[in-house]
Amino acid sequence: MDKLTIQKLVEAQKQYFYTGKTYDVGFRKLQLLALKDAIKNNMNLLNDALYKDLGKSNYESFMCEISLVLEEINYFLMNLSSLARPKRVSASLAQFPAKCRVYRDPYGVVLIMSPWNYPVQLTLCPLVGAIAGGNCAVIKTSEYSPNVSEVLEKIISDTFAKNYVTVIKGGREENTALLECKFDYIFFTGSVAVGKVVMTAAAKNLTPVTLELGGKSPCIVDSTADLELAAKRICWGKFINSGQTCVAPDYVLVHKSVSVLFKKHLVDRISESYRDALNSDNYPHIITERHFDRLVGLMEGVSAFCGGGYDRRTLKIEPTVLEDVNGDSKVMQEEIFGPLLPVLEYDDINDVVDFIRQRSKPLALYLFSRDKQTIGYITRNVQFGGGCVNDSVIHLATTHMPFGGVGDSGMGGYHGKDSFNTFTRQKSVLIKGRRLDNSLRYPPFTQSKFNTLKKFFK
Ligand code: NAD
Repeated sequence: MDKLTIQKLVEAQKQYFYTGKTYDVGFRKLQLLALKDAIKNNMNLLNDALYKDLGKSNYESFMCEISLVLEEINYFLMNLSSLARPKRVSASLAQFPAKCRVYRDPYGVVLIMSPWNYPVQLTLCPLVGAIAGGNCAVIKTSEYSPNVSEVLEKIISDTFAKNYVTVIKGGREENTALLECKFDYIFFTGSVAVGKVVMTAAAKNLTPVTLELGGKSPCIVDSTADLELAAKRICWGKFINSGQTCVAPDYVLVHKSVSVLFKKHLVDRISESYRDALNSDNYPHIITERHFDRLVGLMEGVSAFCGGGYDRRTLKIEPTVLEDVNGDSKVMQEEIFGPLLPVLEYDDINDVVDFIRQRSKPLALYLFSRDKQTIGYITRNVQFGGGCVNDSVIHLATTHMPFGGVGDSGMGGYHGKDSFNTFTRQKSVLIKGRRLDNSLRYPPFTQSKFNTLKKFFK
């Protein structure tokens, strides 16, 4: 789509927003219901597209993509009326007599840019928040998941008028044209590098942003951990979607006293859950040859304790545990975003904290431990977007907690109430009584008025 068409589309959405239709909470709920129906009616198309783009099984697609969107919609169908209601707050004594109200105002026309790894969930969950907040939305999907983009475009165009919600597919040209438009809000999910491009472009228009980015999420296994359970839950979080998950455990830091046993459990778990992964229909492939080659390159110079096999024809890489890795290894210099799990040993938990602090603030952190002191110490003293104790990844699968990063892993958060807060702003309005009027604020400013005024602010 060319620049002029994109600009006209954004302008048309602005005009639609100013009709005021999206302010109506009943209207928003009807749109959410329509979206829910459309998702259910197109479930097969979505599943097929996710299989074509990523090799995701229907099971994984439902568990990690579609169910999350349905839950988000259901949350808003239940809670939107109370969330959207203006809140009464007290007026201060100096404002007497007055009533104060805080309204939740939609931003207007929002741009949602989504990545390819969970292309349904990471496009539609923000959209649900945008609709619930009373906004219009332009959605930009990733060029690397073209089949899903096609189905999303169909679902959105069948369900919504173009000047309310629309999908723009494409690559560089569309991305650049979009970022030149003046949106009222930008919600971006993707890499740190592109996040910086988006924020730079947004700054030119003073457009507020949410950035949901990536990075290396550490996973700590201490000497008190239930090692078998840790191995099971780390493998699940790491190898789901073949490791192409923003919050996947990127690497493990295991206490050296339990390292051998922990790695044995990892191997057992991999052979139980991911047998013959390269030929399994339940094991997704790497998105493109370029991403595949990068991952194969990351294995150079380190030994695979388990796995390490790959098939360029199908773009699949076995669940792989890497050892002999240290902080300087190539695989520790960038977000892995694939099924390679480096395991590093530590001796002292303080060294773990230093190790993490020396790197970018992670999107997620996981700690496997039975020791309350260690749990308290790590959760309080390390900065990370969010995480789990004795599990991985699942902290994001709820409408009750915000999901988001910190520092290089992003800014802002969403899901449930936090999506609503993200896609609306607080508008404070004071309704002043007309009868009483405090003369203190009006000139002339005499000494006696000043003395009285000061008494209010002791
Ligand atoms: P990406 O940054 O390459 O692309 C994301 C989106 O930005 C796509 O729609 C793409 O078309 C667009 N884009 C690409 N280059 C652009 C440019 N120069 N200007 C404007 N837009 C551009 O990310 P990706 O490869 O699709 O996704 C992988 C990354 O996303 C990983 O780093 C991962 O950790 C991160 N991620 C984060 C989350 C999260 O919720 N925090 C979720 C999924 C993925």
